[in-house]
Amino acid sequence: MTEPVDTLFVHAHLFTMEGNGVGYQPDGAVAVRGNRIVDAGSTAALAARYDPAERIDATNHALLPGLIDAHMHTPWAVVRGVAQDVAHWMQKGLAPYARHLHRDAALAGTWLALLEALKAGTTTLGDYATPIEGWADIFAAAGVRAVLTPTINALPPGGMAGWSVGDLYPLSDEVGERSIRDAVAFAAEWHGAADGRITVMYGPQGADMLTLEQLRHVKRLAASEGLMLHMHVAQGDREIDQMLKRYGKRTPAFLEQIGYLDEQLLAVHLTEATEDETVAIAYSGAHMVLCSGSIGIIDGIVPPAAEFRTAGGPVALGSDQAAGNNCHNIFNEMKLTALFNKIKFRDPTVMPAWEVLRMATIEGARAIGLGDEIGSIEAGKKADLILVDLSAPNLMPILAEPIRNIVPNLVYGATGREVALVMVDGRILVRGGQVAAIDEAAVRAEVQERAEEVAAAVKRDPVHLDMALLQPMRDGYL
Ligand SMILES: [Zn+2]
Repeated sequence: MTEPVDTLFVHAHLFTMEGNGVGYQPDGAVAVRGNRIVDAGSTAALAARYDPAERIDATNHALLPGLIDAHMHTPWAVVRGVAQDVAHWMQKGLAPYARHLHRDAALAGTWLALLEALKAGTTTLGDYATPIEGWADIFAAAGVRAVLTPTINALPPGGMAGWSVGDLYPLSDEVGERSIRDAVAFAAEWHGAADGRITVMYGPQGADMLTLEQLRHVKRLAASEGLMLHMHVAQGDREIDQMLKRYGKRTPAFLEQIGYLDEQLLAVHLTEATEDETVAIAYSGAHMVLCSGSIGIIDGIVPPAAEFRTAGGPVALGSDQAAGNNCHNIFNEMKLTALFNKIKFRDPTVMPAWEVLRMATIEGARAIGLGDEIGSIEAGKKADLILVDLSAPNLMPILAEPIRNIVPNLVYGATGREVALVMVDGRILVRGGQVAAIDEAAVRAEVQERAEEVAAAVKRDPVHLDMALLQPMRDGYL
């Protein structure tokens, strides 16, 4: 007697990510019914056990859990590449664009980033943005899994453009309170929506960007609603400078004082955290997101993720923003994470391929509080799976022994374009490298049009004269 299932993957190089390693199974198979994995094991065993509606031959493919991008600001994809290689990235690079990022442009950016990430095997997108009308609907419509964080801050309109580096920036009670109300309404509408594919976190943008009372208010809300707090922590010298001026304390000590350091916190970046501060945050039970590409490019820093992990804290990977990363690709983040940390410690054994693959899957899932649902391939978990074509020239040959080369090649050789199939919640969204449900040509056309509108508005605004990249433009370098 065979049991009916919807999909049966067979003959895969299967990496379940169970246990402490990558859970390799040669000639592996995975059975999916509805939105869940019902079984994983050998092709011989599962082919005898299940009668699938669709059987997918995964010969010469790696079958992996879908990748997790825990920290993105998708709207910025609409101005990909306008802010990198500069000091004071936020003020001198991004801020002049921020004030002209109108709603349609932001939504176009989200579609673009989503398309890019999905095609490169990302199945869970941790997006962090202003909760404008239509934002969450994009993730619901596209079929991906999303952890959405509506940004909460108290910065007056115009943000940081025009603000002088070194001055304390103003915080508005009214703006902050409205921002909190919007986030609460957003969470009520979207947490658990789209068959549970969408969940919500609260996002105080940074300890420097809300008033003390607002920070306390958000923490109370998150605690009472059981939502995580997704927050930039020790993000850049600008934040530390603001915190010292406003409270006389560095961010980690301040957060400890106001009760923010616990397992509810998803701390992003920790760019400026010392080793002691990093260890204290990890010991508190908090989780971390590491954005290697973004922070490397905009700050020239390797964040202390190795120290955080050594202290026992789980770390997820994030692509952050495309204005200056300049991509949303977790294969890129895995490779940069391994490389940067080897270089930082002058030690090739630091962050081996299997560890960064775990950060992109099961460890990342734990870091964002979804470790029981996604991140590994085991019976009962959500069916978020990807197939990577190992016959791509850059991933050949496939060797099983004496050394199995698949995981190192996925981390150091893959670009994301080798992703042949993407399944989220049991539905196949990408097949043969093509996205079925998204009109790619329409996304491209919309992005180009909206990006040109934003660029034209920035060019008309005198604040753009403060942008650091104008000089290399004049000098003929861009
Ligand atoms: Zn961020």
